[in-house]
Amino acid sequence: MAETESRPTNFIRQIIDEDLASGKHNSVHTRFPPEPNGYLHIGHAKSICLNFGIAQDYQGTCNLRFDDTNPEKENIDYVNAIKSDVSWLGFQWNGEVRYSSDYFDRLFGYAKELIEKSLAYVDFSSQEEMREMRGSLTEAGKNSPYRDTSVEENLQLFQKMADGGFKEGECCLRAKIDMASPFMCMRDPVIYRVKFAHHHQTGDKWCIYPMYDFTHCISDAIEDITHSLCTLEFQDNRRLYDWVIDNITIESRPRQYEFSRLNLEYTVLSKRKLIQLVEESFVSGWDDPRMPTIAGLRRRGYTPASIREFCSRIGVTKQDNVVEMGVLESCLRDDLNDHAKRAMAVLDPVKIVIENYEGEEILDAPNHPSDESMGSRPLPFSKEIWIEKDDFREEANKKYKRLVLGKEVRLRNAYVIKAERVEKDEQGEITTIYCTYDPDTLGKAPEDGRKVKGVIHWLSAAHALPAEFRLYDRLFKEANANKMELAEAFNPDSLVKISGFAEPSLKDSELGVSMQFERTGYFCRDKDSTDDLLVFNRAVALKDTWAKMAEEE
Ligand code: ATP
Ligand code: MG
Repeated sequence: MAETESRPTNFIRQIIDEDLASGKHNSVHTRFPPEPNGYLHIGHAKSICLNFGIAQDYQGTCNLRFDDTNPEKENIDYVNAIKSDVSWLGFQWNGEVRYSSDYFDRLFGYAKELIEKSLAYVDFSSQEEMREMRGSLTEAGKNSPYRDTSVEENLQLFQKMADGGFKEGECCLRAKIDMASPFMCMRDPVIYRVKFAHHHQTGDKWCIYPMYDFTHCISDAIEDITHSLCTLEFQDNRRLYDWVIDNITIESRPRQYEFSRLNLEYTVLSKRKLIQLVEESFVSGWDDPRMPTIAGLRRRGYTPASIREFCSRIGVTKQDNVVEMGVLESCLRDDLNDHAKRAMAVLDPVKIVIENYEGEEILDAPNHPSDESMGSRPLPFSKEIWIEKDDFREEANKKYKRLVLGKEVRLRNAYVIKAERVEKDEQGEITTIYCTYDPDTLGKAPEDGRKVKGVIHWLSAAHALPAEFRLYDRLFKEANANKMELAEAFNPDSLVKISGFAEPSLKDSELGVSMQFERTGYFCRDKDSTDDLLVFNRAVALKDTWAKMAEEE
């Protein structure tokens, strides 16, 4: 990752500064703990940039730990996708990838330690009974009839759970804390349950699995994490986090700090809903370029630097927030404007015939208007070319700086042409524009001092490659669609496919790497491209079309 990216401070960094100044810690250890039950989204990127960014800036370490305690919802494909997304974002985890399941033996031991201290018990109440006994926010819960079982018996029962002696749902292990606690998570939470499920890491070794709250804090402590950063919904659970660490024999004292989740307008950042979008075929997959997943953004043509910059711009606080899509898009535009190669494509073509031109030639076009180090590419020119329909008018006022009948325009990287006459079909649609060119205008202005203001892009018809352009719009119709049904929220116009042409140099352009198609937007080649048809995704338009629309109104 570039050394020049600077990260603004935030309340977590202030806490770390204090902890280092006071000598509470000598070094900083963080972790990013995804559950491998879906692909990472841009909200996860916020957490990744925070955790890995802190480790980088404080010369500490950041672990990648899969929080894998729900084997039925997890799988190895998700594990692999998450690893590749973190790497693509530009971060390297400390040592090997870790798994909470690496610690199942130790977690089992710590659960026994709690039982031995009379701080945990096996409960045979049904789920229904447990719910009734839990009470509510205004009403204390009731103690379970199994709460006072002896230590010896509990140890035997817990071992029997692990040995497969009980059915799923028949019993569970609960921490013995306080059924009257104002924090619901402290009312004797379940810490182990029976689940006869195959696990992607531990196979069939276990038929009991620890719960998240019990697992997470202990995993942090085992890994010597100093600052355990998570989102605000775990604020209450911090009591349970500390209770577990305080009641088991372990030296390390990780501390949990909470920050607010990222919410983005016109989309959704919840794996449960993203899975639904995939499974119900609203989108083509986790990497559909409309998805707010890292894989989707990558396929769409986002750069890692633009996502890191976005995370830096939105900052880290405890305030609830919904960020405008325009913030993400402008991070991408800023990055691509400086770094993307230029190329030409015609999205909505109309034919031009240059009557006084014969043969063909290869022109040279720079890859970037101001950065010569990006080199140049060959660009074929010939008698018949494509331009955008929108770039020609039979009549227009002076504000229109493109091709007008009887007037001149410059073809980008080529000659000045003049529109002489048009040919139309029976419906009155223009089919061909006949032009002449001035052979003395390649790379220079006309010698007689004629002013030619407009510049348009074009492609040699004999050389242009057929292409499909996929134009994306917001995934959802409403800015805040969190509470809406997907079918109601989904924007049916979120993908529009149009057919046109691309310049020959784009045939093998790198998948997912955005270029600026002059005057039309930033595009990258998509993996759906074939030998006969190139497919390009529009990563982002050249300008903020939403802001422009508001201006025109
Ligand atoms: P989801 O609700 O999408 O399923 P999750 O929190 O269950 O997300 P995890 O895999 O458990 O997903 O998340 C890994 C880490 O990423 C956690 O520390 C979590 O707090 C953080 N995270 C998840 N979503 C966001 C978000 N929208 N903004 C910031 N951090 C997030
Ligand atoms: Mg989670």
